[in-house]
Amino acid sequence: MQATAFSPHDHTHCISSAITHAKGLCAERDVRLTPVRQRVLELIWQSHKPIGAYELLASLAKEGFNSAPPTVYRALDFLSEQGLLHKLESINAYVGCCNPDTPHQGHFLLCQVCHQAQELDSQYITLALKVSADQHGFEMHHHTIEVVGTCQECLNKANMSEAT
Ligand SMILES: [Zn+2]
Ligand SMILES: [Zn+2]
Ligand SMILES: [Zn+2]
Repeated sequence: MQATAFSPHDHTHCISSAITHAKGLCAERDVRLTPVRQRVLELIWQSHKPIGAYELLASLAKEGFNSAPPTVYRALDFLSEQGLLHKLESINAYVGCCNPDTPHQGHFLLCQVCHQAQELDSQYITLALKVSADQHGFEMHHHTIEVVGTCQECLNKANMSEAT
């Protein structure tokens, strides 16, 4: 099995590599990762649990940033345009993207128990959808797939507590 958001891992590494990656991309594209944009990205990467805009606003306010909603929404728009995050429509929350170099659609596994999200390598899913959409002469613009279920870790925990 692949290393995932669900299995225990050194998450500080996820955060630092996401931020380093974002800085590199923004420099390459000649766009500015302002302090508030960077902080929003760090807050999103705080964990693999998708985070809502209100929670972000509250954290920024506590830290003394300009936390007016437009500031936060503009930062979210920027990060989304740069492919650094995905929005999960069903729960109205944001999650960091693991592969911001190449534009792609968001495909996620969402665990209903621990509420973490794992992004799926998506090219085959997109291709399968495109083939199906083509059959209807339909031009696809964007989509997000959110698969709700239970992760391996939570399944193991449930099995363990059943056994005792
Ligand atoms: Zn992590
Ligand atoms: Zn992604
Ligand atoms: Zn879980």
